Amino acid sequence: MKKILVSGGAGFLGSHLCDQLVAEGNQVTCLDNFFSGSKENISHLLSHPNFELLVQDVSFPLSIEVDEIYNLACPASPQLYQQFPIETFKTSILGSLNLLELAKTTGARIFQASTSEVYGDPQLHPQPESYFGNVNPIGPRACYDEGKRGAETLFFDYHRQHQVDIKVMRIFNTYGPRMSAKDGRVVSNFILQALQGKGLSVIGDGTQTRSFCYVDDTIQAMRLLMDSSMEITGPVNVGNPTECTILELASLILDLTGSKSTLSFLPAAADDPLRRQPNISMAVRDLHWSPQIQLQEGLLKTIAYFDSYLSKNTG
Ligand code: NAD
Ligand code: UDP
Repeated sequence: MKKILVSGGAGFLGSHLCDQLVAEGNQVTCLDNFFSGSKENISHLLSHPNFELLVQDVSFPLSIEVDEIYNLACPASPQLYQQFPIETFKTSILGSLNLLELAKTTGARIFQASTSEVYGDPQLHPQPESYFGNVNPIGPRACYDEGKRGAETLFFDYHRQHQVDIKVMRIFNTYGPRMSAKDGRVVSNFILQALQGKGLSVIGDGTQTRSFCYVDDTIQAMRLLMDSSMEITGPVNVGNPTECTILELASLILDLTGSKSTLSFLPAAADDPLRRQPNISMAVRDLHWSPQIQLQEGLLKTIAYFDSYLSKNTG
C-alpha cells in the first residue's frame, strides 16, 4: 500500500484515477480547490478509510508524506482557461514547482498530466514526442499551452538537477463519464445538446480534427507509466489515434442519441488547432499500451452518463 497524492483529484480524470488507486488498496490524498472539479465526482469516496480530501490551491506550497504524486490540477477546457488565463498559468507553473519540491523532499515519484496542446497547431502530422510544436506564445490559448510547456521544463530540470523521479504524459483529448457538463468541451457539449434537442454548436466549419480517447484507456496508461522503470521519464503521448472531424463527431452523436437536433455553426476560434492525432508508438513500445475502447462504444457510455445526469439535474 502506497501513500499517493492526486492533485486535481476531484476533476474528470482525477476522480477516475482516485477510484482505481483506492480500489487497489492505496492511501489516497486528493488535493483540489474545486476550480473545475466537483464534490459529486468523489462523493462516493469521502467515507472510505483510505481516502482523504484536502481542499487547497496547488499554487501554495504543501508538506505531506507521500510515495507518489500525480499532478492533474489545472483547468483543461479551452472555454474555462481562456476565461481565467492568469489563474491557469499560475496553477500550471506554481503547482508543478510546489509538487516537484515536495517530490524532492520526500523522494516521491511524480507524474505530470501534460497535453497534446504542447504541440499547438501542429505542422507535423501525426505528432510524435520529438516534435517541438507550433504554439503562439501570446495567443488566447497560451496560458494553457505555455503553462504546460513550462511545467514540462520544470519537470525535466528537477530530474536533471535534483534527480527527481519524473513521469511526463502528453494526454490527447480524453472523454467519458464525469466530464463537467459546464466546461464547454466538444464531447460533453454535443451530447448534452443532442439529448436536449438543442442545436449542436460547431465552432468554425467543423473540418478541424481531434482523436478522442476513452477515459478508462487514458487512466490505464497513467498507471502503467507511473509503474514503469525509472529510465522511462516520458514525455510519452497517450491518446486514441483514430482521427475524426468535428462534423463526423457531431453526426455520430446524433446517430447514437437518435436526436433530431441540427447543427448550429459558430465563428472559428483563434488558434484552434486544425488537426490533431497522436503518434503512440512510444506508448506501445515502452508501456505495452494501446487504447481498447473505440469511439462508438465510449460515446455510448458517456451518453448514458449524461442522460442520467440530466434526469437528476433537470425538472
Ligand atoms: P478537470 O478540469 O476535470 O480537472 C482538473 C482538476 O484540477 C479539477 O478538479 C480542478 O478543480 C482542479 N484544479 C484546478 N486548478 C487547481 C488549483 N489551483 N489547485 C487545486 N486544484 C485545482 O480536467 P481533466 O480533464 O480531468 O484534466 C485533468 C488534467 O489532465 C489537467 O491537468 C489537464 O490539463 C490534463 N489533460 C486532460 C486532457 C483531457 O482531454 N481531459 C487532455 C490533456 C491533458
Ligand atoms: N468545439 C466545437 N463545439 C463546441 C466545443 C468545441 O466545435 O461546443 C471544437 C473546438 O473548436 C475544437 C474541438 O471542438 O476544434 C475540440 O474542442 P475541445 O474544447 O473539446 O478541446 P481542445 O482539443 O480544443 O482542447
